[in-house]
Amino acid sequence: MQKLLCVYCSSSDRLDPKYAAAAEELGRELVARGFGLVYGGGKTGLMGAVARAVKSRGGRVVGVIPEFMKARELAYDEADELVTVVTMRERKLLMEARADAFVALPGGFGTLEEIMEILTLRQLDVVKKPCVFFNQDGFYDDLIKLFEKMLAEKFFKPSNMDLFRVAASVSDIFTQIEAARGVQAESKWFQTR
Ligand code: AMP
Repeated sequence: MQKLLCVYCSSSDRLDPKYAAAAEELGRELVARGFGLVYGGGKTGLMGAVARAVKSRGGRVVGVIPEFMKARELAYDEADELVTVVTMRERKLLMEARADAFVALPGGFGTLEEIMEILTLRQLDVVKKPCVFFNQDGFYDDLIKLFEKMLAEKFFKPSNMDLFRVAASVSDIFTQIEAARGVQAESKWFQTR
């Protein structure tokens, strides 16, 4: 079966065009590397940009969208497979199950929530698949600084920092996915005695 890259990204249409340009580059590049796309099934913002770019190169698009968003005509109807679910939670579960790797492009609350759930499952070793932040123009620098503070103050172990990779360019996303393969989570819990 074809590998699917799960892309979490912004649904906003008001961004600097450089973000859509990078999302489109990712869409073309993932097809070139033999991946299909699984994502939230939207047609707006970076979500629409990445999906249209995948289709423009003959790639496969799998969208997973809640009924209430579909009803509001937010769905990308040209997707090869558009799975309709009821809740946002079901949607995340399906995207996670179908994906072979995860990447977060710049985004808002939704994007952050989705990638943080994956990291939470990574640290429990429930999810074992590569997880990458695309740090376009330093977008995620402050989040990574916060992770470093969490580490310094022992909210988690040093090995937690190996559970995700940071990519500096679109092609680096794929380098980081390969580098992340096989990294196993250490037990999450500190020794209690
Ligand atoms: P945000 O970063 O807040 O724009 O949220 C984007 C993420 O949340 C995407 O990866 C989607 O899975 C989901 N999402 C939020 N808004 C939409 C929308 N209008 N259409 C489809 N998915 C959305």
